[in-house]
Amino acid sequence: MISRETIATTLADLGEPAYRSRQVYQALTRGFATDFAEMTTLPVALRRALAERLRPLSLEEVETRAAPRGAARKTLFRTADGEPVEAVLMTYATRATVCVSTQVGCAVRCTFCASGRLGLRRDLTAEEIVDQVLHFARELRPADRRVTNVVFMGMGEPFHNYDETLRACRMLNDEDGFGLAARAISVSTVGVVPGMDRFSEEPEQFNLAVSLHAATDALRDTLVPLNRTYPIDELFAASARYVRRTHRKLMFEYVVLRGVNDTDEQVQMLAARVRPPHYHLNLIAYNQTGGDFRRPRTADLNDLRARLESVGVSCTVRSSPGGEIEAACGQLALEHGAASAD
Ligand code: SAH
Repeated sequence: MISRETIATTLADLGEPAYRSRQVYQALTRGFATDFAEMTTLPVALRRALAERLRPLSLEEVETRAAPRGAARKTLFRTADGEPVEAVLMTYATRATVCVSTQVGCAVRCTFCASGRLGLRRDLTAEEIVDQVLHFARELRPADRRVTNVVFMGMGEPFHNYDETLRACRMLNDEDGFGLAARAISVSTVGVVPGMDRFSEEPEQFNLAVSLHAATDALRDTLVPLNRTYPIDELFAASARYVRRTHRKLMFEYVVLRGVNDTDEQVQMLAARVRPPHYHLNLIAYNQTGGDFRRPRTADLNDLRARLESVGVSCTVRSSPGGEIEAACGQLALEHGAASAD
């Protein structure tokens, strides 16, 4: 992906008329072009001149794994400087959701998540984030399908890379380009309070999700190290500000760790905190990442959901396809990516 601004300045330097800029931008964002040679609306000399100056793709595909029933595909990419990036496509009857990474690795080191294990290597640019989406858009096109949703729930903490994350949201949302509705774009944060405040001031109606995982500081401190910086009272104060400013709903994600955060104490505290109509809780079964945690059985999950509903929490269980190919929530990892990239 190349930003509109870069396309415009490059074409201006080449002395080209302004309308060329839109042609190139739309060839990338609507035609999903991978090469200037494909841009047959441009004169051949211009295609060559652009190819000497710009690269349409910021990521190279290294490997793709598909889940047996075909509901999930995970692609490992490599950036121009050799860093591994993973993204996942989940296809349903009518939707096709892409889960994108915003960083190579992650600095947060949640104890149950594989992404932070080797720490943070670097932030991704908006172009590198958008290219993950365009890759799957290109794959879906022969089947006459489109990407209907994008979730910023892959590797990394989006609000530790706020500017590029927002720039990517806007590129995807641009009516003149990819044209995905703001409401079809969701950003998930571990609870970086300044980021939540900034996000609540943005004019677009992008969705926000917050990874909660525990309703007491004593427990959350042990699961999400960033809770020591932004404890639960502050997290909920920021959540309330978000709802007040945007009048939008907020989704809390809750990775269910059997015997750890599914206790009656947590249920009671969740009932006090996660109140409808603005707050909703999404339960995610813990996916094995090599740690000491245990995955809940389907019956445990349904039981927890029933207990939460009985105390007034609006609650659903998230399907997280891709476990078989280590493409499910929490399983995107540097170590794995780096190993396959060699
Ligand atoms: N850093 C952001 C974006 C990642 S979203 C955030 O934390 O929200 C990925 C989601 O998957 C988060 O809710 C994360 O907590 C969850 N997750 C991490 N490890 C998991 C695991 N092993 N099993 C299930 N979900 C996991």
